[in-house]
Amino acid sequence: MINLKAPLYVNFEVTNNCNLKCKFCYAGERKAENFYSLEHHKEILDRLREADVFEVNFFGGEPTLYPYLKELFEYAYDIGLFTGIVSNCYNISEKIIDVIKETDSGIGISIHSCNPEKHDSIVQVKGAWFKTIESLKKIREKGIPVTLNFTAIKSNYREIYEYIKFFVEKFDVQNIAVNRFFESGSGKKYNDLALSKSDIKELAELMKKASQDFKVNISFADMVPLCVLGKEYKDLVHKCNAGFSFCAITPNGDVKICPTTEMVVGNIFKESLTEIWNSETLKEFRKFDWLCDKCKKCPYFKDCEGGCYFSDPRTNDRIYNVDYLVGCEDE
Ligand code: SF4
Ligand code: SF4
Repeated sequence: MINLKAPLYVNFEVTNNCNLKCKFCYAGERKAENFYSLEHHKEILDRLREADVFEVNFFGGEPTLYPYLKELFEYAYDIGLFTGIVSNCYNISEKIIDVIKETDSGIGISIHSCNPEKHDSIVQVKGAWFKTIESLKKIREKGIPVTLNFTAIKSNYREIYEYIKFFVEKFDVQNIAVNRFFESGSGKKYNDLALSKSDIKELAELMKKASQDFKVNISFADMVPLCVLGKEYKDLVHKCNAGFSFCAITPNGDVKICPTTEMVVGNIFKESLTEIWNSETLKEFRKFDWLCDKCKKCPYFKDCEGGCYFSDPRTNDRIYNVDYLVGCEDE
């Protein structure tokens, strides 16, 4: 395994504030905050550049609420960082759409159903679906590449085939990322939305069928253990890069291995990203000594590496774990 001096790409959470209330939001329990200054966030970008980070994705909360987002895109572009954004596009302005185009950035848009009422009930804001669809139209008209982010929960996972058909036919969307539901943030209150192992297999079968029928790129955005999914669905997953080539930075500069967790491994204003990346905590994490025997002896290990490291609700008191779906505790 190659040891990098710093991550190649970073999710930069420019604000914790949001205009929706998604039932699974990992940031859902964070308090509303005053926005950090443009100078503060530019300093974070400088520090990423110094560490030779290649790409920054603006995240949140909802990044379009950050009042200097356009300037941040321009600054990142000027200092040589590739840029992208993940947004609910509930209220994205023309100005931001234009800067996405001008800086050759990609955009991930979070839409969780092709049924307006169902989407609105998931994000808990009436009329949200129509506003997001209006934005999607504008973005596609400008020829900006889009990835749709669909979070699979009990109430929507069976519609994935229909969802893909709808967005391919109406908007010529070519990339769909299926996120898993985790009991973190707002998800702690809605744990009845979590998919069972058999639901996940059913979802994977529908995803595979849709990718063949509509010739789209569709995969899980979060790793799913191959022992749960089955190796016949290997093409639908990518092993997780968190802590290896990717990490998250919060608005105040805290560094986290993965966006889903609240566990902080350093702060970019106190140490360089390179120092944090080479800290004992990160080195221990990458050794995988913490994996259970099931994973250590597993024939799929090379392609899976223990699934998702922060899927376990108990990660609040343990920094990382084997994916809860694996059932290592049963050994
Ligand atoms: S590495 Fe672990 S999580 Fe992945 S397939 Fe093997 S046992 Fe399952
Ligand atoms: S640890 Fe899990 S939630 Fe975090 S980036 Fe990896 S797969 Fe996604």
